[in-house]
Amino acid sequence: MKQEYFERKDKELFCEGVAVKEAAREFGTPLYLYSASHIKERYNNFEEALKGYPHDICFAVKACSNIHILELFARAGSGFDIVSGCELRRVIDAGGDPKKCVYAGVGKSAEEIELAIEKEILYFGVESVPELERINAIAAKLGKTARIALRVNPDVDAHTHEYITTGKSENKFGLTADYAEKILKNFKEKYPNVEAVGLQIHIGSQITETEPYKKAVLKAAEFVKKLRAQGTELKYFDIGGGLGIVYKDETVATPAELIKEILPTIAELGMTFVCEMGRYMVGNSSMLITKVEYVKENPDKTFVIVDAAMNDLIRPALYEAYHEIVAVEDKDETFVCDVVGPVCESGDFFRKDCQIPKVGEGDLLAICSAGAYGFTMSSNYNSRNRAAEVLVEGDKMKLIRKRETYEDQVRNEKTCR
Ligand SMILES: *Cc1c(COP(=O)(O)O)cnc(C)c1O
Repeated sequence: MKQEYFERKDKELFCEGVAVKEAAREFGTPLYLYSASHIKERYNNFEEALKGYPHDICFAVKACSNIHILELFARAGSGFDIVSGCELRRVIDAGGDPKKCVYAGVGKSAEEIELAIEKEILYFGVESVPELERINAIAAKLGKTARIALRVNPDVDAHTHEYITTGKSENKFGLTADYAEKILKNFKEKYPNVEAVGLQIHIGSQITETEPYKKAVLKAAEFVKKLRAQGTELKYFDIGGGLGIVYKDETVATPAELIKEILPTIAELGMTFVCEMGRYMVGNSSMLITKVEYVKENPDKTFVIVDAAMNDLIRPALYEAYHEIVAVEDKDETFVCDVVGPVCESGDFFRKDCQIPKVGEGDLLAICSAGAYGFTMSSNYNSRNRAAEVLVEGDKMKLIRKRETYEDQVRNEKTCR
């Protein structure tokens, strides 16, 4: 277990000053339990690494979008990376500054673009010409100027899972440099209501080394120089997100190491540094706490069936992602088992053939590193109510999302009668 702010004291698991058992007793299971101190520390690691250099750190909202979590970032002065109109609304509800929002995604709707222009976001990360035309038309209608950063695909391999690599030329994201260059020619005449202010790259997720970033930044920097020679000046150099976390035994570059490798290249260009980290900020801020329902002993296999399922945390089923599992209270013995949920799919597992403490019915397990792409990817599959979320700071617990009820699930159906 390598999550800061989660530790064992007196034979049981604590999140900061709160006994996990107590949180489960008060709020039930499955339960997402977050450490506020962890999140603050992670944000500060980037602030520290960038101190003295013009920068915007934009938290990628899709990793963990609870408005109380966003509020922690807003208070720290963070910007936000958004991918939908409702993410922008979450940021605003959380007290975040829309003017510090950057907006990514290949399919922005007209309504979403209109909202973002009205709220004067920092820039749109533009992924195609039709999108740019749409942004220009909507800005014209509103009598405004929209800012954009072109998302350029640097065609580097981030050495990560194929579902989460985004910077290779076969991915659906971004534009090739050649095409971006063409778009920027006579830009003002073509798009009078749009100002091109930046260049954005984003090469993937759970990247553990600095090398892919360095390669991508060097390529993008060459491109910036080429554009300058043609008279196009861009202010923001946006490296995207993607820095990894420790799930198992990975060695992961720190923000300081990453910044040291790439900032000189960006500083040489005199551009403002922007990053859009999601997983790094929150991935290890949370554990999903779950209760053992049954221990099922088949002749050749033992299944620990818990009350959390793939609808609560889909990463193992979707990406074969590794999540460590620990017992909330110490046990003397261990056993080898599959930890599975109640959903009617063979893909509904958290770990297979793993050695964990020998738990029984009613015992609590903690599924580690669940803070990023955990709750935000949860669903009501099998008509399961989504989990509660609780934020811990010191010895204080705060419910930040009530457990869903059956009535919550069917509200929008019943009103159709
Ligand atoms: C998802 C995403 C991020 C955040 O990625 P992490 O791996 O969570 O850091 C940042 N920028 C863009 C454009 C994204 O799509």
